[in-house]
Amino acid sequence: MSVHCYVCGTAEHGKVYLHCVHEGNEKYVCVRCLPVLIHGGSH
Ligand SMILES: [Zn+2]
Repeated sequence: MSVHCYVCGTAEHGKVYLHCVHEGNEKYVCVRCLPVLIHGGSH
């Protein structure tokens, strides 16, 4: 299974990814994008 951030799309090894559920789908987000989600996101 390949893990990649659903926000920025990065799949870099060595990064930390957090599991989350977005619109009913299980996804991963990297810690770099986490603040964006916490603050409501601009997407
Ligand atoms: Zn990301």
